[in-house]
Amino acid sequence: MRIKYIAGNWKMHKTVTETVSLARVLAGELASCKHKIMIAPPFTALAVAAKALEGTSILLGAQNMSDQEQGAHTGEVSVLMLKDLGVKAVILGHSERRIIYGEKDDFINRKVKLALAHGLEVVLCVGETLQEREAGKQDGVVSSQTEKGLSGISEKDLLRVTIAYEPVWAIGTGKNATGQDADAIHAVIRAQVKKLYSQAAADAMIIQYGGSVKPENAKELLTMPNIDGALVGGAALKAETFAPIALFDK
Ligand code: PEP
Repeated sequence: MRIKYIAGNWKMHKTVTETVSLARVLAGELASCKHKIMIAPPFTALAVAAKALEGTSILLGAQNMSDQEQGAHTGEVSVLMLKDLGVKAVILGHSERRIIYGEKDDFINRKVKLALAHGLEVVLCVGETLQEREAGKQDGVVSSQTEKGLSGISEKDLLRVTIAYEPVWAIGTGKNATGQDADAIHAVIRAQVKKLYSQAAADAMIIQYGGSVKPENAKELLTMPNIDGALVGGAALKAETFAPIALFDK
């Protein structure tokens, strides 16, 4: 039985003060949550978030990291720095990184390998654009992003990878995929993991859905057989919208 894994991607929101206050409220409200929970504040607030989450089961995540361990890479943040702050997981290949900052699959794959080599967990994001969906290319796009993102990853290390299916047309738009639509793509991703690894790896793979998840649609999405959790953007910015998703019960 796969666990449910709910993650909050705060994107470029929340000052240090705001982070402390939201993290403290979440720590209290989610104290008895039976699902795996991760929050990913911005880099500047990771240190205070780590302190606020001390003694809780909420994992601290980062939203990105460099593909290099250290060196002359102005403006980048390395895996060593993240680990030093108590970060346990990192979101990689988010569509905003792919589209706005031009990140390609091989570059994302280097980050995935580096994060895993340093013991972090990874949330690898995949998903098609509206144009690709309209052209019926969604299955091919997510299969290819999954294969390239996981290239060179052992089946043992795969246990620390979560895949987040995030259709680009559903992110921040208020338009979520229906439970059935999302479940069908999750099944495609699971089949790809089976092809690349094994039935056991496919059965164990946690696949989150991301794209306008909110308390109102969480149940429809999270009760689908292939949907094992959610990567939440906008609704992760307030306890009153994130907590009900995280506390979802059948
Ligand atoms: C995201 O950025 O990962 C996301 C899913 O955003 P939203 O929930 O706001 O659509």
